[in-house]
Order: sequence, then structure tokens, then C-alpha cells
Amino acid sequence: MAKSFTQHEAQPGTLHLIQERFITKEEEQTYIEVPFEVANERFERIEIRYHYDNRSAGSVVDIGLKSPERIVGWSGGARDSFFVGVEKATPGYLAGSLPAGTWAVLLGAYRVPEAGCRVTVEITAVPAYSRWMKGDLHMHTIHSDGSYTAAETIELCAQRGLEFIALTDHNTASQNRFTLANDDRLLLIPGVELTSYRGHANLLGQLDALGDFRVLTPDAAASELWKARDMGAFVSLNHPFCDLCPWELGFDVPYDAIEVWNGPWRELNETAVRWWQEQLSRGERIVALGGSDTHRAERFVMHGRPVSSIWTESETVEGLLNGIRKGRVVLSADPDDSFITLSSGMQGIGDTIAPVSPAAVVPLLIEASKLQGGDRISLWSDRGVEAEWTTDDEEAVFAFDGSADRLFYRVESRRYIKEMERTVMTCLTNPIYIGRSI
Ligand SMILES: [Zn+2]
Ligand SMILES: [Zn+2]
Repeated sequence: MAKSFTQHEAQPGTLHLIQERFITKEEEQTYIEVPFEVANERFERIEIRYHYDNRSAGSVVDIGLKSPERIVGWSGGARDSFFVGVEKATPGYLAGSLPAGTWAVLLGAYRVPEAGCRVTVEITAVPAYSRWMKGDLHMHTIHSDGSYTAAETIELCAQRGLEFIALTDHNTASQNRFTLANDDRLLLIPGVELTSYRGHANLLGQLDALGDFRVLTPDAAASELWKARDMGAFVSLNHPFCDLCPWELGFDVPYDAIEVWNGPWRELNETAVRWWQEQLSRGERIVALGGSDTHRAERFVMHGRPVSSIWTESETVEGLLNGIRKGRVVLSADPDDSFITLSSGMQGIGDTIAPVSPAAVVPLLIEASKLQGGDRISLWSDRGVEAEWTTDDEEAVFAFDGSADRLFYRVESRRYIKEMERTVMTCLTNPIYIGRSI
């Protein structure tokens, strides 16, 4: 926890206060407020730490927190630090919007020695800020045919360093009851995998988005997916070219994304990326997603393989979904594997470069980390591979002069794995698009 405190404290606009309060013997067994002001609604996290002296003389000071509206939690003497966020909070505290106004750290003067005791309270309020967050958008639990409970899944994913997950059990929403209880490590995106004999699709972002999974015709699928979308769900067609359960309901149904990377890198994913590239080259804008589809412990399957990194403007499910809708998504083989971004000036992945003359030069910047020697990186456009090179550096920055006479640019990175005797994808970005002048 200390590590994340440090990371957040570096954000511009962060409020950082240290307050001291001397508690006298006469105040024993009373409750004391240490007020502080939250200036606006733009904060997404409030962190409190405290310590006090004279413990050897028997002092015991409890702690809690009050918003302008209510008491949001009380940990007694059990913790020396805690946080509340919009959608995450330390157990014992309520996550929720952080209203502007006068807040107060609550101190409980349970035991105070004759000499009194000095309490130091450290208050950090972090404004919402933009960042990449990594997670897994496709997994199963005992609510369908997985072997992990929802709680075990959350624990395993937190250990993997994931920052959000979606529990996408087949044709049920019962796992989403878990997403109502805030976790202090992960954001939980409600999800369900519509699973019919003719194809699978993830519906993300709504607690109960699936009306009827028994869709066997394109018309029935379209009707069901429209309903889910009208409800606000994000629709991803899963493993569309899987041997066992491909998407056979056509692509004239409403959908927002294609799961081009399902679990370990295999031919079905290669086919999905080829199909996606064809659509992009025709001017379609389809978001490419990945998901581990983990059901249980298996040799090559693990939560976060692949991992989806999403550019979000706040640490909220809504922020993540907005990021996905805008195509601000990078897929990597593992939370600790290659991560590549593509930008052109202020525009990044998912953005559209403003229309310019087709003859104009588009500066492209590729920034890569956690590469391995021998990794093969390729820059793609609607014309196919524009440039390809092998890297020996772990961190690398490449600059290109792209042409505005293209629909998009995107980047792939691949690696030859000796033990598997094959080349696998290690990172795949969504495109940066180029606008057309009319
Ligand atoms: Zn499936
Ligand atoms: Zn699945």
C-alpha cells in the first residue's frame, strides 16, 4: 500500500496535509474531529495515515472518517492507514463519490495517559488523473464452468498485478453480485458471456445485460445485442474464429469490439487479427480486445494472459469503459511483458489525427518497454506492413515519417519462443486513425 501512496502523491493537484492534535487526559473517551476541506468534486481518492505517541504509557487512539454527508468508515485501532475512493476502499470504509466540502478525520480518544498524547494525521487527496490500467476482460468462475470462486479469482488477479477484471460467466449474472462489493485492489467490471451454440459475446459494464442467450439466428442475436447495447453494455464478439465455438451469427449484428486475442497465442487469434486488419483497411473502426478466458489452472492459461491495458481518465469502471469505447487499448502477452504505445503529437492510440492533405507527413512515435532481444516489431497501416525491425533493447523509442494518405497505423510485436517452436504475439496496439478531409 505504501508504494501506491507514493505513486498517487506525485499527481499534480494532490492535496497533502499533515495535522497534529494534542489530546489531553480530560478528553479521554471522547470523539474528536480533525477537519479538512475538499475543494471540488474532482478527487478520486482520499488516503489517511496516522500515528500517535505515548503508546508505552497506554495511549490508544481510534480512527475513522466523515464526509460532508456521513460517516464513511471507522477502523478503530485496527489500521494505521486506509483510503476511500470512488469505486475502491479499504475494507470497513465505503467507496463512493467524494463530495466537496468539509471532511473530518475522526479520532477516538479511547485511552489517554496523564501526560496526554500527540496524534499526527496525514491526509492525501488525489484528483482523478489519466493513466494506463491493466486488466483481464474475460474469465469464468464457479458461477459457470470455472473452478475458482469469485473471491479466489479476485485474489489471484490481484496477485498478478491486475487493476481491473470482468467476471464473464456463461449466460448468468449471479457472479456480478460480487462486483457490488467494492474491493480495495481491483476495479470489478460487471460482465456476462452470451454463450449460444452459434457463438459467444461478452457484454460488459452492466450488472444484468443479458435477457435471453438462446440466439440461434443472426436476427435473434442482433435483437438481443441491441437490447444489451441500449442498456449501456459494451459488446465484444469473442474468439470469433475458434475451432470449437466460432461466431456463426454474422457480423451484421451490433458490436463494439472483437476479441482478437483469446488465451494463449494460437491460430484462431492469428485469423482474428487478419480479419480485423481487413476490416480496418476497409475503413471500419473496430476495437481489438483480449481476454484470458481462464476457467481453471492450466499449463498455458492464466489470468492476465493476455492483459488489456486501457487508457482511462479516472480510476472507475466508467472511465475504463470510456477508454475501451475510444479504442485506447493495448494488448500484451502478460502483465510483465512488452508494452508499446503509438502517438502522433498529442494524439494517441484510439484517437484520430485531424484531416490533413493526403500528401502531408504524419510523425509517428513508437515507445516500447519490456521488449526482449530479437523481438520483431512491425508498423501496420491499411497498406499492410509499413516497416519492420528487430530490437535488441528492452526500452526503445522509434520515430517514423508516416503518410497522411493512410487510414490508420498500428503496431505489433512478436517473439520466437524456442520451447514452443513458434512465433507468438507479445504486444498489439489498437490503431491511431487518420481523418479524411472532405
Ligand atoms: Zn467463449
Ligand atoms: Zn469464455
